[in-house]
Amino acid sequence: MVTYEEFQARYQAVLGRVAAACVKAGRPLASVRLLPVTKTHPVEAAQYASRAGILAVGENRVQEAAAKRLIGPQGLQWELIGHLQSNKAKLAIETFDRIQSVDSIDLANRLGRVAGELGKKLPILLQVNAGDDPAKFGTDIDGATALMEAALQLPALRVEGLMTVPPLSDNPEVTQKAFDRLRTCRDDLAARFKIDLPELSMGMSDDLEVAILAGSTCIRIGSALYGQRANVI
Ligand SMILES: *Cc1c(COP(=O)(O)O)cnc(C)c1O
Repeated sequence: MVTYEEFQARYQAVLGRVAAACVKAGRPLASVRLLPVTKTHPVEAAQYASRAGILAVGENRVQEAAAKRLIGPQGLQWELIGHLQSNKAKLAIETFDRIQSVDSIDLANRLGRVAGELGKKLPILLQVNAGDDPAKFGTDIDGATALMEAALQLPALRVEGLMTVPPLSDNPEVTQKAFDRLRTCRDDLAARFKIDLPELSMGMSDDLEVAILAGSTCIRIGSALYGQRANVI
């Protein structure tokens, strides 16, 4: 785990990259939000983010996040960015302020029902496998319309946009293509259902510039802020 001083230096470096990418894309700096990804790191990672004035962090496992949230900073928001099994829906809704990884109609239905029972309105993103990578979760582009239609019928869910994880690739063109497809998918869905879908969650430590050029509004940054994860899971 890095020290807070090292985290601050890394954070400033990431902000510099974001600013440069925004200039290149002709976008205002405020249109891109940085979500630190604290998965596998101790709770200090979330404390660093909070101390630096960041409002939310991302985690990919329900139990891990639930445990950290109990002892973590007051007021910090937590977002789920990893695959969610339906049987953990209740703990997930109790733990997370937003779920970015809604990837099936079954999961949407379950979340909609449990959130309703808990009297909550749960903000969500739909996860789309925009790069058609068999190793990644998310509905394929063709299934996104049906998933959106199902989610919009659930009053306890509020769909704010789309999320994707691109195929692992050293080729920026592969990544860019996946991000462009996510944006197009968002534009198509917004037009078709006549709704606002402001959030496009895409971009990680190695490809945040590509993502910002493609229209990302939420970059999810782990290793660039906290160093390599010890146990890659
Ligand atoms: C781990 C993870 C990230 C962060 O990845 P880095 O390359 O460490 O920035 C972003 N998004 C998701 C869905 C992740 O699981």
